[in-house]
Amino acid sequence: MPAASLGDQGHSGTESLPSQHLQPTWVKDELMDEKGKEKEKDPKYWRDQAQETLKYALELQKLNTNVAKNVIMFLGDGMGVSTVTATRILKGQLHHNPGEETRLEMDKFPFVALSKTYNTNAQVPDSAGTATAYLCGVKANEGTVGVSAATERSRCNTTQGNEVTSILRWAKDAGKSVGIVTTTRVNHATPSAAYAHSADRDWYSDNEMPPEALSQGCKDIAYQLVHNIRDIDVIMGGGRKYMYPKNKTDVEYEIDEKARGTRLDGLDLVNIWKSFKPRHKVACVGAMWLPRWPLMHSHFIWNRTELLTLDPHNVDYLLGLFEPGDMEYELNRNNVTDPSLSEMVVVAIQILRKNPKGFFLLVEGGRIDHGHHEGKAKQALHEAVEMDRAIGQAGSMTSLEDTLTVVTADHSHVFTFGGYTPRGNSIFGLAPMLSDTDKKPFTAILYGNGPGYKVVGGERENVSMVDYAHNNYQAQSAVPLRHETHGGEDVAVFSKGPMAHLLHGVHEQNYIPHVMAYAACIGANLDHCAPASSAGSLAAGPLLLPLALFPLSILF
Ligand SMILES: [Zn+2]
Repeated sequence: MPAASLGDQGHSGTESLPSQHLQPTWVKDELMDEKGKEKEKDPKYWRDQAQETLKYALELQKLNTNVAKNVIMFLGDGMGVSTVTATRILKGQLHHNPGEETRLEMDKFPFVALSKTYNTNAQVPDSAGTATAYLCGVKANEGTVGVSAATERSRCNTTQGNEVTSILRWAKDAGKSVGIVTTTRVNHATPSAAYAHSADRDWYSDNEMPPEALSQGCKDIAYQLVHNIRDIDVIMGGGRKYMYPKNKTDVEYEIDEKARGTRLDGLDLVNIWKSFKPRHKVACVGAMWLPRWPLMHSHFIWNRTELLTLDPHNVDYLLGLFEPGDMEYELNRNNVTDPSLSEMVVVAIQILRKNPKGFFLLVEGGRIDHGHHEGKAKQALHEAVEMDRAIGQAGSMTSLEDTLTVVTADHSHVFTFGGYTPRGNSIFGLAPMLSDTDKKPFTAILYGNGPGYKVVGGERENVSMVDYAHNNYQAQSAVPLRHETHGGEDVAVFSKGPMAHLLHGVHEQNYIPHVMAYAACIGANLDHCAPASSAGSLAAGPLLLPLALFPLSILF
């Protein structure tokens, strides 16, 4: 059924619909779509497709038990299952297809599990407690990062002794390169659990900390980013202002006071980051040490042009901070100053993969969550499409033989879509009928709560009077809230590569890093691993690596 008539069905008859809903972008490919629909009428089409899938599933019985030299974790903040499905449809519709049949990059992963996301003190979790679970392997209280549940939120004096380390640290300790790429501030909840230990996720810089916490000796998260693990190889995202002294003018937004530095302690953390980086590698060739060779290259960058003109072969350490706070939404992105998530991921992998011992990379599509909190489903879904693009890029740069890739979310949102929409309905479109109660049309996408609750003249707003396909349209919600909330149901975990099959069934969220570490032979559980100098299958005997250059990143 063409979308134009669907729009008419959802139309009350007296108001006119915004024109873009009468002509969704894929309508111009109607011929192709009609052909596709003809195919779907033939039972052979579905049987053949299912048999192909079955053949592939049977292949999966041969398990990949290689050692994961590399581990990449993609974290879609707030990317619940309903968001994944809607993202899939959007991706298809952006390619002028109906959308439901489209496959996301993550859909192609062979193994899927469900992750139980609750925090130790919260049925519906937040991004901090969950990040501690899927990065450090330990469930924690909401609002806390890199500490066990013995730490209470905002209580600095409950931190000491309760710190827990992350898989990023385990990878670094094992000699791998490590990286963090996010679209939020690099000291936001998700990335911070990789390197920080903080009783409060909001302690971005000392400016955001209460005097009591400062006097008790707790350090802000930006400070910890630079000091805790001094040789994180790649850090990219937003968050410049937390790195600089209070009131220091921002390099990009010179007249914007909100973009200025925030630090009360007057530190310039970018300079400190640079000062911690080794100037030279110390290389060992056979029995000979070759000191002061070659040079190590550390780069601080703040815009897209700098990123895209970097020569990854000449970059050992990269700090890219592209915005004072979070990065812009993908739909609003300035293509000159701000890189996309997938552009950042490509450069990160190019730098990290130079290490013969492999790498761990955390990638966060961090603003899916923000779009949902604002009730702006279109922003959220475009963020998720971009993360899926990054997953595809990473897949094309790595091999299933030696790279474990995990895609998951920290928690869901009270985001849903329904209303018996027909096949190919614009994901941002209307349901094909009026409410049988208030006689008004409604969008397929709705939120359980949030800022989209609108009453006009004592009645639910008539959505056909507004541009519900606008980038910033706030979908209707059942309960008015300034910020839409997280959802409490399980989220999906997609995995591929060595030991991906261990992510299966329904598991606690803190199980995930234990699997990633087991697959990579890092962390505490190493009994199944061959000696460090060997490679290959976990079950296989040792294979000696060729005696090659092993650069040691130490100060010289
Ligand atoms: Zn959130």
